[in-house]
Amino acid sequence: MSGIVYLVGAGPGDPGLITRRGAEVLQRADVVAYDRLVHPDLLRLAPGAELVDVGKQPGQSTAGQARINDVLIEHARAGKVVVRLKGGDPFVFGRGGEEAELLAEAGVAFEIVPGVTSAIAGPAAAGIPLTHRDHASWAAIATGHEDPTKGSSALDWQALARAPTAVFLMGMERLPEIVASLLAAGQRPDRPAAVIERATWPQQRVVRSTLEKIADVVRRAGVSSPAVLIVGDVVSVAERLERTKPLAGKRVFVTRTRTQAGRLSTLLREAGAEALEFPAIKIVPPSSWGELDRAVAELHRFGWIAFTSTNAVDSFWSRVLATGRDARVFADVRVASVGSATAEALRACGIVPDLIPPTFTSEALAEAFGAPRSHMSGRAVSVLVPRAAGAPDDFPKTLEAKGWRCREVTAYETVTDADSVDAGRAALDAGVDAVVFTSGSTVRSFVELWGKPPGVVAAMGPRTAAAAEELGVRVDAVAATQTLEGLVAALVAAV
Ligand code: SAH
Repeated sequence: MSGIVYLVGAGPGDPGLITRRGAEVLQRADVVAYDRLVHPDLLRLAPGAELVDVGKQPGQSTAGQARINDVLIEHARAGKVVVRLKGGDPFVFGRGGEEAELLAEAGVAFEIVPGVTSAIAGPAAAGIPLTHRDHASWAAIATGHEDPTKGSSALDWQALARAPTAVFLMGMERLPEIVASLLAAGQRPDRPAAVIERATWPQQRVVRSTLEKIADVVRRAGVSSPAVLIVGDVVSVAERLERTKPLAGKRVFVTRTRTQAGRLSTLLREAGAEALEFPAIKIVPPSSWGELDRAVAELHRFGWIAFTSTNAVDSFWSRVLATGRDARVFADVRVASVGSATAEALRACGIVPDLIPPTFTSEALAEAFGAPRSHMSGRAVSVLVPRAAGAPDDFPKTLEAKGWRCREVTAYETVTDADSVDAGRAALDAGVDAVVFTSGSTVRSFVELWGKPPGVVAAMGPRTAAAAEELGVRVDAVAATQTLEGLVAALVAAV
């Protein structure tokens, strides 16, 4: 039996932007050969598949491409269902056409599954339409990275300068040359221009200026590849769209762990802000799993287990599975969750919490426990609390004061994430209107890495605010409900 290769467009980044057809063939894939620009969540759609990273670094070309072709042809000839997952649309730059030609020549069956291209979705994600009745009735899409082996320019700069809208992909390294070529071909220096970096990813950034100034603005902001450049009056539409949003034009610095920041940035962007995401902390495993593994094995000896964060759920559950157990370890124990996100994480493991406090703080959770009844056994009053190493101990203390017996175990550690230090410093230097904090540890890391936060400071809840004030950081807004939505609402009210 012979196999097949699906050349699938993954979309620009956000995993929600793959087509249903693309998701469907991924589920059936035996092999997925994917690009550097593909969102990791999309690979989870192909749980059984062998994953082959064929991502090319910029600059590396021919040898890498030959290897990709070999991988596709070999596996298809072995009868496998192969998905070649490419960023954006498979046939917009990135050599999708060449791959298809080679497959045809090799006599391998293949199908093209179109995708959402960054050339259109990038501007759209920044509120910029490619065409508009008042501004542009056609648009040009060009590569900003010409084949260096070509002697003269393959681009018709006169046409690109005349196009009411011109979009350039792969242009970041050559941005000053692109601008110079457009100007030399007669494009107006004050024509609006924008660069959209990592469109539809949590780290999306947009800079807008004029053609003449755009390269300088991009350099100062530290914007880099992958990004699209768009030149044309349509760029001004974004400005008009933004004005209706409460955080329009505000640059908001987000500090959260790498895995959690996405949703907060999305909410901020929906409110019109530019979310600058620099995780100050990251979650790492404790130095040893011994203590947590013992707690997992002894869970039946506790009356309750209390989760005060999604990280605690993730870590505990990962050890349940890693030690060869399953959800049955929760059979005889009641489960408390600090809030809705933590409850959601528990539900994903098949566990519906017995107790969620009306407001999502650990004080409220301790309050919700009430006092144990007098006839309760030793087991019934025992509460297991998996937590971060070094987390403040007022939660277990309050419970113990009420008559419960708490055992705290270290489920994870939060440490400063040094990787984002320089990028964060550059963003702060470029100017920031607000900084949002979701926990005391993010405030501590911020101060340690970058000093006092500038602009309006918003905190997720009273504990985060208290931690900030202890460090001499003035807090302007505290969320009324301890959710990400509540945090954004508080920020909107404060700016
Ligand atoms: N086939 C892809 C393009 C591949 S070429 C598509 O249709 O989108 C790679 C270039 O695409 C990058 O250099 C960048 O210019 C652009 N690009 C891809 N993803 C992007 C994103 N999320 N945001 C901005 N530009 C992106």
